Amino acid sequence: MEVLYNSTRSKDQKVTASQAILKGLSDEGGLFVPEQIPALDRSFEELKEMTYSQTAYEVMKLYLTDFTEQELKTCIARAYDDKFDTREIAPIRKAKDAYYLELFHGATIAFKDMALSILPHLLTTAAKKNHVANEIVILTATSGDTGKAALSGFADVEGTRIVVFYPKNGVSPIQEKQMVTQRGKNTYVVGIHGNFDDAQTGVKNIFGDRSLAEEMDEKGFQFSSANSINIGRLVPQIVYYVYAYAQLIKKGCIEGGEKINVTVPTGNFGNILAAFYAKQMGLPIDKLICASNENKVLFDFFRSGTYDRNRDFVLTSSPSMDILISSNLERLVYLIGGKDPDKNREWMASLSGEGSYTITDSMREKLADFYGNYASEEETARTIRSMYEDTGYVIDPHTAVACCVYEKYRQETADHKPGIIVSTASPYKFTRSVMAAIGRDDSEEDFALADKLSELSGVKIPNAVEEIRTAPILHDRVCEKNEMKQVVREILGL
Ligand SMILES: *Cc1c(COP(=O)(O)O)cnc(C)c1O
Repeated sequence: MEVLYNSTRSKDQKVTASQAILKGLSDEGGLFVPEQIPALDRSFEELKEMTYSQTAYEVMKLYLTDFTEQELKTCIARAYDDKFDTREIAPIRKAKDAYYLELFHGATIAFKDMALSILPHLLTTAAKKNHVANEIVILTATSGDTGKAALSGFADVEGTRIVVFYPKNGVSPIQEKQMVTQRGKNTYVVGIHGNFDDAQTGVKNIFGDRSLAEEMDEKGFQFSSANSINIGRLVPQIVYYVYAYAQLIKKGCIEGGEKINVTVPTGNFGNILAAFYAKQMGLPIDKLICASNENKVLFDFFRSGTYDRNRDFVLTSSPSMDILISSNLERLVYLIGGKDPDKNREWMASLSGEGSYTITDSMREKLADFYGNYASEEETARTIRSMYEDTGYVIDPHTAVACCVYEKYRQETADHKPGIIVSTASPYKFTRSVMAAIGRDDSEEDFALADKLSELSGVKIPNAVEEIRTAPILHDRVCEKNEMKQVVREILGL
């Protein structure tokens, strides 16, 4: 059955999967959503014998219905190969009372690799299918991880160019070093004086600029987005939930059909939305536990029904979750609001105008699957420390936020169903915070700290860290937040 995509902000959009991937964002600024969420058409008996790539095909074929089997399998084969340091791609590790789904075994040791290693291939395939001759310009705002993962995914991919904006003082030193050492003649990295939301808003404004788009088209360029609003990011993220569930059956940890809870450290709401889609497809997930850091907009939203970004932006040790506008939440709000683009437009206008909106009581009832909570900085550090002391397992601050919130959930509800905690980054990406949390000297430079962490955790330093030790800095552009468009013009020679 063909799945088409609507915009969350217009009744008039109806596009194919490949068109939705190409466009990223719809013309009026809405997000593309599948008309119907498809149901899984394989049994758990079948799924538990599948590799990650086979599972990826079974899930993605249901959404990307205008890709041929051959095209999709080629994209998958190019993405989930030895860029990952384990053949399992997304291994599960049990620690204390939960299963940690490690999504950090890709090229940049964070979960963004799961989708960004396949997106460039989906995108170039989509371009061919739609007879696009323009060079595709990927414009991305990053809170740290997306940037590097997108850069490494797109570097030297023919027919593409990639420009990444990041908050100059809002990412970890290793994250910054990873980005500014990026090779590839089609890659551009720009620091802005502002936070992640400024970068994201700037990118959205550039995308929405019609006259710029026309000028670009004349010169042979068109924009696309690698941000988590692209449906080509969301769909590959559904895969690991299905894979993890099937693997837990295979390992004898759960029975086929048994309900589990999933806890996701959340920022832009993409990862947890993928879990929600997996649930809608028939995966037996009970609660979707949304874990925030001190930027707890989502916690407040789940408690009160009001999304309110009017508050101080806090820089935390989990910077990829330092977000006050969770873009992907729009897809959920659209769905629980009865798929009404007019109403949805009003809420989003209110969000960009007053900085807040409130959903109705009947919509709140439809959020019963979700539980939100947050971890303070102190709780996050304590969680890293106790996990290390009790088990020897070292987790990164994002994962620790999830772990802490999962504990809070279990204490509040006494719900002891099997739980998956999504582990979104390697501790090597946040070595300083991790070492400080476990009470070790954190005053040395980053690579020395990585060596120490390796000694104490017994886990080898990942390649992604080794290779930037001595890499030269290739990008040093910095701009004000209101200069982003001008910078893009310069890069494209407009
Ligand atoms: C991006 C990111 C998150 C947040 O994921 P969303 O899909 O934006 O909610 C959490 N942890 C890490 C390490 C990330 O890179």
